[in-house]
This record gives sequence, structure tokens and C-alpha cells, in this order.
Amino acid sequence: MAATMIPGKYAYFEGGYIPIEEAKISIMTHAFNYGTGLFEGIRGYYSENKNAILIFKLNEHIDRLVRNCKILYMEINETFDDIRNICIELVKKSGFREGVYIRPIVYKSELSLGPLLKGVESKLCCYVIKLGDYCDINAGLDVCVSSWRRLEDNAIPSRVKATGSYINSALAASEAKQAGFSEAIFLNENGFVVEGSAMNIFMVLNGELITPPRSDSILVGITRNTVIELARKELGLNVIERPIARTELYVADEIFFCGTGAQVAPVKSIDRRIIGNGEPGPITRELQKIYFDVVLGKNEKYLHWCTLVPCE
Ligand code: PMP
Repeated sequence: MAATMIPGKYAYFEGGYIPIEEAKISIMTHAFNYGTGLFEGIRGYYSENKNAILIFKLNEHIDRLVRNCKILYMEINETFDDIRNICIELVKKSGFREGVYIRPIVYKSELSLGPLLKGVESKLCCYVIKLGDYCDINAGLDVCVSSWRRLEDNAIPSRVKATGSYINSALAASEAKQAGFSEAIFLNENGFVVEGSAMNIFMVLNGELITPPRSDSILVGITRNTVIELARKELGLNVIERPIARTELYVADEIFFCGTGAQVAPVKSIDRRIIGNGEPGPITRELQKIYFDVVLGKNEKYLHWCTLVPCE
């Protein structure tokens, strides 16, 4: 079952803050009919110590959103700084003292017919919900390789978090769950491993960290970039971006997913083949620990990745 959302009281909609239940669009909206929206998913972690919500890599998420607007000809009134302030303001207004998830969406708001992009009016909206763990991050996940292929960049650009492209993710995740797995791994049309339904993938082989390259129809995850940097700087690991064949996964020492939602989630089996010894591996565990210290603001060195929103 999809998770129920507990939202903050207010949403940003059509240029202002209004009660979330009043933030509604027409059934004739272009984005509703054609999937012409793009969005971000941003986490905030509650730090008891600082009595604040720490929004992780807020600037990087907004940067990705704003850049991707170009691909879909999205033009909105709000600037980078406006979007940043809206995210912060909604977290403040939510009053939540726990993990939150911020969802800015830029969407084709016009009530017009025809799947065009250029010249169709766009708007920004945004809401905040409470969010704990999106998937199991302790025991390790049992996953399968999907029979669905990942969208190719020349079909629906995978580097864009487009609302419509999540049909691809939903098909793979649903198939996996119906077959008794927790998650799916996508291959691209060339048969190489690319990512999970909403997360990037890493494998550990002989002490090296390997992940598919950004040219292989992946969403270039902000968590992926974080993991690469932390692995290099904190663990001195060699990180390689290269195509990964399906069967390489079966013989890997460790596999994990990462993403804003997934965080750092170990994989314990793929297609019913046990990875390593079936337990989350030592490198995965270490990266998990470093990652959570960083997002919870416990590591001073990376505090600049967190935007502090004090709780009242
Ligand atoms: N791939 C896909 C398809 C996703 O939806 C996500 C989640 N945004 C990711 C990867 C991970 O990206 P990020 O670390 O930026 O959340």
C-alpha cells in the first residue's frame, strides 16, 4: 500500500500560503492530463540538540529543480531564493518536530488541450509532510530486477524528476511488491543496471564502490553525490562510475540503495540470490553511520549542507 501523508497545515499555491485542503487544481489542468510537472523531494531532519529542523542540501535540490525547468520549458515567477524561502517557511509553519519531506512542484497550470510545453503557463506549488523511514534501512531489502526497462533519456529525460515519468517507477515497484519483493532494480534498454524505482544504486566489489554513470539514464541523485563525496573523503574509497551488468550484482560483496526517501538502504538479496553473507555489509554500515551523522547535523564539517530551521 502507498503511504498515507500527514501534511503541514499550509501549502504554497498560486503565489501565497493557504490551508492545504484549499490547494486544489482543476481536472482540466495540463499537468493532470499529461503528467507535465516536475518536482523535488527534500528531507528535513529534526535535531533535538539544536531544536531545529535541518533541511538537507536545500540549495542543491532547488538548483536541480530550476535547471530542469529549462528542459520542460517551465517559466515561473518565483526565483531560486523565493523557492528556498518558501520551503523554509512551510517547514516553520508546519510546526513539526520530527522528520519532514518538502515537495516543491512546478507544473503546467494552464487549462489547455494538447501535449505542448513551450508557451504553456507554469506555476509553482509546495507542501510539507511528516516523513520517517521510506523503506527498511536496517535488515536489508529483498529486491528483484524489473521486467520493466528504465525510461531512456531520449524518451522522457530521466534526469528530470517529471511527474509523468513516475508511471515507469510505479510499474516496476508494483510488479516487485506483487511478487513479494520490497523494491525493483531497473535495467536500461542496453541491459545495464541503472537504479531503483526512486533511488540510486551502489555496489561494493573488492573494496571499491561502483555506481552507474550519469549518462546511463539515471536521475543524478543528490544523495548519490553525497555518498560519493563521503566515501572518498571519509573512507578513502575508490569510487567508480561505470556501467554495471545485471549478473555483477549477484556476485557483489555489498549492494545498497540511496536517495532522499530511501536514505542509505542495504540490499540483502537480488532475484533470490543472497548478497555477501545476507547481512548489511561493513562499508554500507559505515556509510550509513556517516550519512546519518551528517544529515542530523552531528558532523560539524558538513553542517553547511544543512539549512537550520529553528523550532518555536
Ligand atoms: N532515482 C529516482 C528515479 C528517484 O526518484 C530518486 C529520488 N529523488 C533518486 C534516484 C534519488 O535522488 P535524490 O538522492 O536526489 O533524492
